[in-house]
Amino acid sequence: MKTLEQIAAELQAYDPQAMSVSDVAAFLTQLVVPVQQTLELPLLQALGHVLARDVVSPLNVPPHDNSAMDGFAFDGSQLQPDSELTLAVVGTALAGAAWQGEVRPGQCVKIMTGAIMPAGLDTVVPQELVRVHASDGNATAILIAAGVLRAGDNRRLCGEDLQLGRAALQKGELLTPARLGLAASLGLKTLTVWRPLRVAYFSTGDEILSLGEAPREGAVYDSNRYTLYGLLRQMGCEVIDMGVVGDDPALLEAAFARAAEQADVVITSGGVSVGEADYTKAMMRKLGDVAFWRIAMRPGRPMAAGRIGNAVVFGLPGNPVAVMVTFLAFVRPALWQMMGANMPAAPLLQARSTEAIRKKPGRTEYQRVWVSNAPDGSLQVRTTGNQGSGVLRSMAQANGLLVLSHAQGNVAVGDLVEVMML
Ligand code: AMP
Ligand code: MG
Repeated sequence: MKTLEQIAAELQAYDPQAMSVSDVAAFLTQLVVPVQQTLELPLLQALGHVLARDVVSPLNVPPHDNSAMDGFAFDGSQLQPDSELTLAVVGTALAGAAWQGEVRPGQCVKIMTGAIMPAGLDTVVPQELVRVHASDGNATAILIAAGVLRAGDNRRLCGEDLQLGRAALQKGELLTPARLGLAASLGLKTLTVWRPLRVAYFSTGDEILSLGEAPREGAVYDSNRYTLYGLLRQMGCEVIDMGVVGDDPALLEAAFARAAEQADVVITSGGVSVGEADYTKAMMRKLGDVAFWRIAMRPGRPMAAGRIGNAVVFGLPGNPVAVMVTFLAFVRPALWQMMGANMPAAPLLQARSTEAIRKKPGRTEYQRVWVSNAPDGSLQVRTTGNQGSGVLRSMAQANGLLVLSHAQGNVAVGDLVEVMML
């Protein structure tokens, strides 16, 4: 494991007082190490975990060629481009069992969706595309008009979803509902996943109230622990909420020590800017190997990161929106890496700004926005009100973060901008 000094030495022109957003991301990639332990979990419990092994398909899905429609199966080589085709119905193939019997040229078999294709047949004409001749309510013959069908239509091929022996899911994939269903379709009862990450967090500041405490002058209720809880739980992390720790060196030391002992990651908020009674920084410095940065971004300028004991530590700013933005920009990608997840950066959407936005080149800015469809169907974006770094309301009303890159200047009405969806 590299020390912070070693990581810094490898980065070009490292300056903790003037970090770009990409400098911070590059530093953190070097700082964190993926968990090593795995768990074998029953399928349902594996939802939201990260696969630790490739899942190799033990069978073909579907296991046989089968019909994609309710209709009539026949040998498609009889289709002629310019003439209609009449076929006699000689039986019915139901889902769940193979139809035994011979089908000769000029004949077909009534077939249900999912039923195995009888031997020698490769094409299904859907019920609604044929004229049926019936006697006593049973189809006896069908007429297929010219040009409505090609050989091979409406047949699902054996193994077209998953092929025996091939990786159906890959190590590092997060188990989403679709991937869980896919694992189930292979008949797998358990999956091997990386153990979940344990993340401890606390808020700092004498002015921060916990829920249930009476309001008092100069004090504000803690919101950071709640947004962090939500962000971490959405990622599938195990959380340890350590409450609020006042601006007191002894309490902070004890909290850091306890958190670092129990968790893989410790996240604090508050106390990393230049403030009088901020002991958080001093304590991180004393207990661990921690870098303090001034980042060219808004919101979220001050941030600390490093290690205390075996835990990775993130010291986020105190302002509630800055906490969320620094989490999304830096902490979340670092945690995915620690969780063993191959999580490609979420694609940024391009949308038209419905308003002019002032922006100075030389820092990355994040604005809280609402993305919607313009009347012509393209994406448009508007800001959700007061963009102060302490104003959570505009964050709560947003469905995206507008990302104005380092070099970007002012935005004019109608300019294309990039949005990270929330
Ligand atoms: P600090 O970084 O400690 O100087 O805090 C910056 C601002 O964020 C101050 O106005 C704090 O009161 C506020 N703040 C810090 N922590 C929290 C929190 N957990 N919940 C809500 N506001 C906070
Ligand atoms: Mg503070």
